Amino acid sequence: MTWISRLFSNAQSVTSTKPASIFLTNTLSGSKELFISQQPGIALMYSCGPTVYGPAHIGNLRAYVFADTLARTLLFAGYRVKRVINITDFGHLVSDGDEGEDKMTKGLKREGLKLSLENMRALAERYSAVFLTDLEELNIDIKDIRFPRASDYIAEQIALIKTLEEKGYAYQTSGGVYYDTARFLGYGKLGGIDLSAQREGTRIEANKEKRSPADFVLWKPDSKLGWESPWGLGFPGWHIECSAMSRSLLGQEIDLHTGGEDHIAVHHNNEIAQSEAASGRTFVHYWLHNAFLTMNNDRVAKSTGNVAYLADVLEKKIHPLALRYFFLQGHYRTPLSFSWEALEGSAEALNRLWKLVSEIGNESKRKSEPSEVRDRLLAALRDDLATPQALGILWESLRSDEYTPEEKWGLIEDADAHLGLSLLNPPLPVVVSQKEAPEEIQHLLVGRETARASKDFAEADRLRDEIEKRGYRVEDSESGPKLTSV
Ligand code: AMP
Ligand code: ZN
Repeated sequence: MTWISRLFSNAQSVTSTKPASIFLTNTLSGSKELFISQQPGIALMYSCGPTVYGPAHIGNLRAYVFADTLARTLLFAGYRVKRVINITDFGHLVSDGDEGEDKMTKGLKREGLKLSLENMRALAERYSAVFLTDLEELNIDIKDIRFPRASDYIAEQIALIKTLEEKGYAYQTSGGVYYDTARFLGYGKLGGIDLSAQREGTRIEANKEKRSPADFVLWKPDSKLGWESPWGLGFPGWHIECSAMSRSLLGQEIDLHTGGEDHIAVHHNNEIAQSEAASGRTFVHYWLHNAFLTMNNDRVAKSTGNVAYLADVLEKKIHPLALRYFFLQGHYRTPLSFSWEALEGSAEALNRLWKLVSEIGNESKRKSEPSEVRDRLLAALRDDLATPQALGILWESLRSDEYTPEEKWGLIEDADAHLGLSLLNPPLPVVVSQKEAPEEIQHLLVGRETARASKDFAEADRLRDEIEKRGYRVEDSESGPKLTSV
């Protein structure tokens, strides 16, 4: 059984019963709360996705591993999880305010492509594919997630802006349609943003017609490029896509919304203002935010050049799951400092874990039994996703004599389901008995033994290379050749 089919059979077997309790820190209240979904047994979850003008960096990937850990925890507690990660494929301005060069335009320039909607889409699709492959490398199951492209939801974004206009939350300026934040009671409630500081600030406004510095663009006109709308040719503002796609794909009221903490102040408060003004209902019940990944004491970010990618990890011949392991070593709400030495440390630890798990798999014959430590692991994860504690419990118990191999295997199964570290099928060399090897390999092995017996070492080496080319390695031991698949 693959882990994904196991995931489903486990999840389905528990949906008939009440899901287990999970506690999560909600940015809305600033405290840890018991999770209660709107519909019994179903969790609706939205995560702000990347702007695909280049590959996602490892800081972005921290945000998606965190969201995946949350989704896995919900799934194994007994929820059906419906997930969306949007793909921003146009017009995402460089800064949270409404000024700065557009990221996609920057991407087109970098690649020497002419500015057009078609080229924007092509660039976006290229980097969306890279993004999805990165997620897969990190054991994030993309089949269970919808990835809507913002450019496929223009009509929905226009409709939402029209609703806001009809309800009196929008006003027209020569620089576009703006959201009137003063009209929305409780604007800035997420994370307790101090609006008076913003209002009194001396920021020079790009658009002098704005009624308040916090007001933000809903539709930005463009004389040459964009989509037709009641406000002329142009682009939707970048906050509106999340409100529109979340509403279209998950409904007006959802359970969970995730993102990095940089999105709290502006982007997520703006999403709330748009969605709640339009629907008159609570947009999101649980807001969860991950802290930054830092490097050299500064936030990992493309704009500053303080950046690394999954491609760099692979180039250094470090397994991508070592990065996942590295992320899990920190709690999602705590800043995490990345360095190549630290990642190599995680790679070594994960390798040791894989070896230990294989040994226990052999001893237990992969039969599992419940144990008190398995409950402890689940309790840690269901207490605001305490992954560092979960890893601690796992290591400590697997090394201890207190548990039988079967109890340890039970713990490994649950740890694997939640942590996504390929523990059940570690990507390690696997010893294969000669009889189980494909016939062709068996022939080559016999040929090599014959050559060795007649001291024809050149031929023996040639046959060893042939075997390696076919994905097997031979080592000579006292009891004869040992075959491993790699
Ligand atoms: P963006 O494409 O900038 O919207 O980022 C995609 C996601 O990654 C968002 O949820 C961001 O909050 C998150 N993010 C960006 N930089 C970092 C970082 N250095 N550490 C953790 N999360 C980040
Ligand atoms: Zn968003």
